[in-house]
Amino acid sequence: MDRSVLILHRQSSPGPLRESERPPGPAHPANQCRHGEKIGFAYSSSLPALEALMPDDFAARIQGTQVDPKTPTSDADRLPFINGQTGERIGEIKSSKFDRLRRDKFGKLLMELLMEGLDIKWEKSLTDIIYSADETKVTARFADGTKDTGSLSVASDGTHSTVRELLVGAEKAKVTPTDFATTLCFTKHSRERVLFLRSTPFHPLYQVAPHPHGSFGWLSLHDGDDVDHPEKWKFFHYISYPEPRNVENNKSMAGRLAYQKELAKEFCDPFRSVFEWTPTDSPLWYGKLRQWDPSEPEHSWENHDGRITLAGDAAHPMTFQIGQGLNHALKDSYELCKRIEGFSNSGRFSSEQRATAIAAYENEMRPRGGEEVRLSEANSIAMHDWEKVM
Ligand SMILES: Cc1cc2nc3c(=O)[nH]c(=O)nc-3n(C[C@H](O)[C@H](O)[C@H](O)COP(=O)(O)OP(=O)(O)OC[C@H]3O[C@@H](n4cnc5c(N)ncnc54)[C@H](O)[C@@H]3O)c2cc1C
Repeated sequence: MDRSVLILHRQSSPGPLRESERPPGPAHPANQCRHGEKIGFAYSSSLPALEALMPDDFAARIQGTQVDPKTPTSDADRLPFINGQTGERIGEIKSSKFDRLRRDKFGKLLMELLMEGLDIKWEKSLTDIIYSADETKVTARFADGTKDTGSLSVASDGTHSTVRELLVGAEKAKVTPTDFATTLCFTKHSRERVLFLRSTPFHPLYQVAPHPHGSFGWLSLHDGDDVDHPEKWKFFHYISYPEPRNVENNKSMAGRLAYQKELAKEFCDPFRSVFEWTPTDSPLWYGKLRQWDPSEPEHSWENHDGRITLAGDAAHPMTFQIGQGLNHALKDSYELCKRIEGFSNSGRFSSEQRATAIAAYENEMRPRGGEEVRLSEANSIAMHDWEKVM
């Protein structure tokens, strides 16, 4: 390929990345879910794919991006699963080793690595895509009036992707709501309370708790960097609950938080307490759990001789209880890199070679992403149905 350009919509200008900055993710108004605050995420299945794309010392550097770098997860660690009503341990999530990463620190690490070899353009908001008549080039247009032309554009512009809309049309590009909703909470507490929330028998990093009444609780450490000052640690927690997809939740944020507190009264500790103690001015985000299945025939898109494609949440936004969205985004990167390496030949390639490679990527990604979208929804349904949980 002639050159590689990474387009990022970002509030801050380029330069040294500071801890306090918004992560490179979610600044775009269309992607406001989870974006006021920086959620953490677990990743496990994509670890080999990510390491294959990164320098040799990546595995060591990633340890510093854990939500609590002083309490790294071990190979034997598993996510415990507890009965939200009684606290009884009912199982554990079967997976390989997992890490719990902070979005901002992980994003910063990736940015540092990318900045070594890429021409990164910041604060760009894509509005349109144009294809040259000779089948060789693609041009991205941005809200500030600028444009950029290349041989291939990979759109990873998130759940409410503008490019997905351009490719399949506004109606077909819409994410489908599921019958579940939640309010994500990001909170700080006094030293005494924080130590309680992480004390035995509670897991120091995660609590995952389906409740027999049909709701689902999550509590995890979000930022435990300052080991000597627990009062500075942050927690991320939510209770998801059934809310029919066609019901519009018109409550204020305060009302939505009050509902979380109400649901939490039925939970055991630490859920009951962390919601009871949640300050009303905490960062909150409400949303229905949503998805878009790229394998549905009506969701297929014309990739214009391999000049445009989708990756990550733009291609397969999914519900998050099973925690696989990032894993698939990274797998997409790996699959794409393999295909691009196969034809790029320092920019000397034919449109047919590119079209074949991108078709191969999409033929692998669409069924894989689609399957995970469906599995994630099935998992979300099961997590709110006690008979299925047990
Ligand atoms: C509560 C919650 C918990 C989760 N937990 C996990 C987990 O444990 N494990 C896991 O694997 N996944 C998890 N996920 C999913 C994971 O966060 C996403 O799958 C992942 O962030 C997708 O990355 P992405 O780069 O495709 O999209 P995003 O992270 O959404 O990034 C999209 C980027 O595109 C930019 N953008 C949008 N529109 C435009 C435009 N028009 N022009 C230019 N830029 C634009 C945005 O500003 C943003 O920077 C979770 C999600 C949530 C909500």
